[in-house]
Amino acid sequence: MVTHDGTAVGDAFGAHRVVEPVGSLPQAAWRVDNDLSRTFESELLIDVETLNVDAASFRQMEEATGGEGTAGVVRLVRETVATRGKQHNPVTGSGGMLLGRVARIGSARTGDAAQVGDRIATLVSLSLTPLCLESVGAVRPASAQLDVRGQAVLFATGLYAVMPADFPDRLALAALDVAGAAPQVARICSEGQSVLVLGAGGKSGVICAVEARRRVGPRGVVVGVESYAPYAADLRALGVCDAVIEGDARDPLAVRAAVLAATGGREVDRAVSCVNVEGAELAAILCTRDRGAIYFFSMTTSFTRAALGAEGVGRDVDMLVGNGFAHGHAEHTLALLRREPAVRALFERRYG
Ligand code: NAP
Repeated sequence: MVTHDGTAVGDAFGAHRVVEPVGSLPQAAWRVDNDLSRTFESELLIDVETLNVDAASFRQMEEATGGEGTAGVVRLVRETVATRGKQHNPVTGSGGMLLGRVARIGSARTGDAAQVGDRIATLVSLSLTPLCLESVGAVRPASAQLDVRGQAVLFATGLYAVMPADFPDRLALAALDVAGAAPQVARICSEGQSVLVLGAGGKSGVICAVEARRRVGPRGVVVGVESYAPYAADLRALGVCDAVIEGDARDPLAVRAAVLAATGGREVDRAVSCVNVEGAELAAILCTRDRGAIYFFSMTTSFTRAALGAEGVGRDVDMLVGNGFAHGHAEHTLALLRREPAVRALFERRYG
């Protein structure tokens, strides 16, 4: 599609940037066009400052590059962007999001909350965002953030948030990365229910545990499982869980035994998976009661392992895919941090 003066508008979903396979949309594409010297009138051009890489992706890159440290992660990010035109980890399939400054707003766009020069965080995955990188600077493993110089574009359907004035950028970016989690937990949890959170000491895990506590109230039960001792201690200190179990979510029988011990023998109504490793599906399934529900926020979740695993152990549970988007998710998550000073302080210490 072209405008009256002959400039190209581009497709609202970004199909005009897909190189291969033809006919796919950018997230599913193997490669997208990241030549940003030419932009389309439906696109928002961003001067990128920071990449917030998805936790599962960052961990996979750290493990794959062994002793190389952060240099190995930088090398893989550069290779991925050069090969695919986007930071779409070929192993985990996940991306992340970015922080940058609006450089150009296409003439065919309407209703943008941002103006040229505003700093924004993208709320759609890097796995579909055309990106070109000039250089990579500091890497912060605790938050999976990389300072970079580069450019990216958002399509007409690409969501973003203008950076809030009352949060440091890094903190806001970290929280917005997992913005979909809290509103989804709020939807599925209600007063008096019991909730299990796997990976509960991590970024999304803490947010889910806090949201669950708020929804189930004092009569409900919230149990967290976390393998990293310092994060388990942080979670205990917040006081939002009835029990924090230091354990490995990849060991379903051990997790089930520990959770039942914490709940007086009752399986939970709701489970949420927030781990950054593969293989936690069965722990969630084995701990959830008949006709209960599991929210798989983790990008490491395997449809096959979850579906066939539940069938294999005879569990009739509802399983929800962790859609990264829910209406009002950015505002919901920032409001949670404003309401919970202890959580905000913890996040500032870790990611700020
Ligand atoms: P995070 O901060 O790294 O939290 C993950 C937590 O799980 C960490 O505390 C981690 O400990 C812990 N963990 C690792 N292995 C475990 C095990 N075997 N048993 C129990 N706990 C374990 O990650 P995040 O940013 O919250 O992201 C969590 C997941 O959500 C990732 O899979 C990410 O890809 C996904 N995600 C999904 C969306 C979406 O839209 N659905 C958006 C963003 C992120 P360590 O510190 O030792 O690793």
